[in-house]
Amino acid sequence: MTEKFSGNFTQQEPLPEDAIEAAMVVLRHGRLHRYNVAPGELGETALLEQEFAAQMGAKYCLAVSSGGYALATALRAVGVQPGDPVLTNAFTLAPVPGSIASVGGRAIFVGVTENLTIDLDDLERKLDQARVLMLSHMRGHLCDMDRLMQMCDAAGVIVIEDCAHTMGAAWRGQLSGRQGAIGCFSCQTYKHVNSGEGGLLVTDDEELAAKATMLSGSYMLYERHLAAPGPEVFDRIKYTTPNVSGRMDNLRAAILRPQLRDLDRQVERWNERYRALEAGLRGTPGLTIVERPKEETYVGSSIQFLLLDWSPERIADVLSRCAARGVELKWFGGAEPSGFTSRYDSWRYFDSERMPESDRVLAGVMDMRVPLTFSIEDCQLIARIIRTEVGAVYQS
Ligand SMILES: *Cc1c(COP(=O)(O)O)cnc(C)c1O
Repeated sequence: MTEKFSGNFTQQEPLPEDAIEAAMVVLRHGRLHRYNVAPGELGETALLEQEFAAQMGAKYCLAVSSGGYALATALRAVGVQPGDPVLTNAFTLAPVPGSIASVGGRAIFVGVTENLTIDLDDLERKLDQARVLMLSHMRGHLCDMDRLMQMCDAAGVIVIEDCAHTMGAAWRGQLSGRQGAIGCFSCQTYKHVNSGEGGLLVTDDEELAAKATMLSGSYMLYERHLAAPGPEVFDRIKYTTPNVSGRMDNLRAAILRPQLRDLDRQVERWNERYRALEAGLRGTPGLTIVERPKEETYVGSSIQFLLLDWSPERIADVLSRCAARGVELKWFGGAEPSGFTSRYDSWRYFDSERMPESDRVLAGVMDMRVPLTFSIEDCQLIARIIRTEVGAVYQS
C-alpha cells in the first residue's frame, strides 16, 4: 500500500491560552491604538518593544504593522533616496525587493550559493555599487556573517537584516538581526510568532531608532515608547522625518508577548521536526541536502533541498508525484512566479542581469514549510514519500 500524508501545510497551531486571555483584556477595555493608554498604563505595544529589545540584547526596538513595513522603514531611516541603488539577495521573497521599490530605490541583485546563502564573492564584486545592503536570511540560512560584516564594514556599506525567517536563530551565538545596523522581523502568520500581520525592528543606533519611530507614525508621542531613545535625540530629527503611518496595535502586541516568551521552546520543536526530515532525506540519490554550518543556530521552520541539474520536466514530475501523496513542495525554478514563490527575474520593475550560477541553484531549489502542527512521525512519513518519489524519477 502506498503511504499518503493527510496533514495541512498551512495550518498553524492555535494561539496559546495566555495570548487569548491577553487579547480579551484589550478587547474588553477597547484601547487598541498604541497611544490610547489609561493614566499610568504603559500599553501592550510599548511593553512588547521593551521585552523584545531585552530578548534581543538591543538598545532599541520598534513594533510596526508588518515585516515588509519594517524593511522599508529601515531603508528610509538609513537615508535611501529615490534612485539610490540597494544591494539585495537574488534568492528571497517578493516583500524584500518590494520594500526597496517602495522607497524608490533600485535593487542590485546578488547571487545565491548552493548553501542557499548570499554569494559573498559576488557581493564583494558589487560592493562599490551601493551604500546599503538589504541582507535577506532567506529560509533561515545564515551566510558567513563574520566575512560579510568585515567586507561591508570595510566598504562602509550599511547592512539591514531581513530576519523574517531567522527570529531565534544565531551566528556563533550572536542572535540574528544583531550584526547589521538594523534587524527586521515579521510576525505574520507563517513566521515564528503569529499576530496575523506585524513587524519588529531592532537597532543600537539612537538616531536610526528615533527616525524609525517617527516614520512609523508616533506623532509627538514618542515619549510613550519604552525602548526608544530619549527626547533629545528626537529633537534632532522630528522636524525632518515624515510620518508614514504603520504602527503596531495593542491587540497584536498582546498576543505576541506570550509567544515571544515561548520562542526558545518553539524553536526546539521546529528543529526536532527539521532533523527528522533531514535524516529521512539524507542519502537519497540525486538529492542534495543543504548542509548547515557549525557556526549557525537555525530555526527549522522550513526545509530546502536541491535537485541540481535536473530537467524542469523531471522536477515537475517529482512535484506532482509528491502532491498526489499529500506532500506540497514549492519549487523556485518555475518559469512563472506562483503562490509565495518568485525569483529575481520575476521582479520586472527592476533590471537584472542573468546570473548563470545562481540560476543553476534556483532551478533546483525545492522548499517545504514545516508547521508545528506536524508530528515527528508526520515528518518521517513526508521524508519517506519524498525519498521514494525522487528516487523513482531519478531512476526512470
Ligand atoms: C514574510 C517575509 C517578509 C515580510 O514580512 P511581512 O510581515 O509579510 O510583510 C520579508 N522577507 C521575507 C524573506 C519574508 O518571508
